[in-house]
Formats: sequence, C-alpha cells, structure tokens
Amino acid sequence: MGFRKINYKGKIIKVIWKSCTDCYGMYDSNSRTLTIHPEQSNYNLAKTIYHELWHIICDLNEVDINKIGEEKTAKLSEQYVNLLKNNKRLKNFLNELY
Ligand SMILES: [Zn+2]
Repeated sequence: MGFRKINYKGKIIKVIWKSCTDCYGMYDSNSRTLTIHPEQSNYNLAKTIYHELWHIICDLNEVDINKIGEEKTAKLSEQYVNLLKNNKRLKNFLNELY
C-alpha cells in the first residue's frame, strides 16, 4: 500500500499492511509497529489511520491516553500537523481516501 513507515519525533514506526482479526489497525508501542488491515473501505481506512496516529502521538509524547483531559487532547491533536508535515507519502495517501 501507500506508505511503509512513519517518521515522528525522531522515531521510525514500521507500517505493516496485513489482515488482523477483529481489528482495523493496531499500534504496538514496544516494537513501534503499526499494523493496518488492508481490506476496509477508504472511509474506514482514513478513520483507522487517524485513530492509530492518535495512539502514536500519545505514545511518543508519553501521555497516558486514559488520563488526559480536553486541553491536552486539543494540544496533542495539533501534532497531526507536525506528523503529517514530515510524512508526505502518508499525507498524500490520506488525502486520496476521502
Ligand atoms: Zn485504539
């Protein structure tokens, strides 16, 4: 598929496109690997990728996703700009989905 790695905060997250049972995507913070289920609609794929990017943003900013409030959520979500700016292939891929 369109992109194989995500470069964020000086770290490389490996992207694997492979079927996973009972999930659309899964981010493993230990191995810094993102698995994406390829057989899903474009609309769903876009939602899945944004969802997984959110996990990556929280992980690499050392935020426990369960404990953050609205203000931190807003601040962190701005990180999409930083993240996508450095990953043109990922950005273009998302733009083609919807
Ligand atoms: Zn999740």
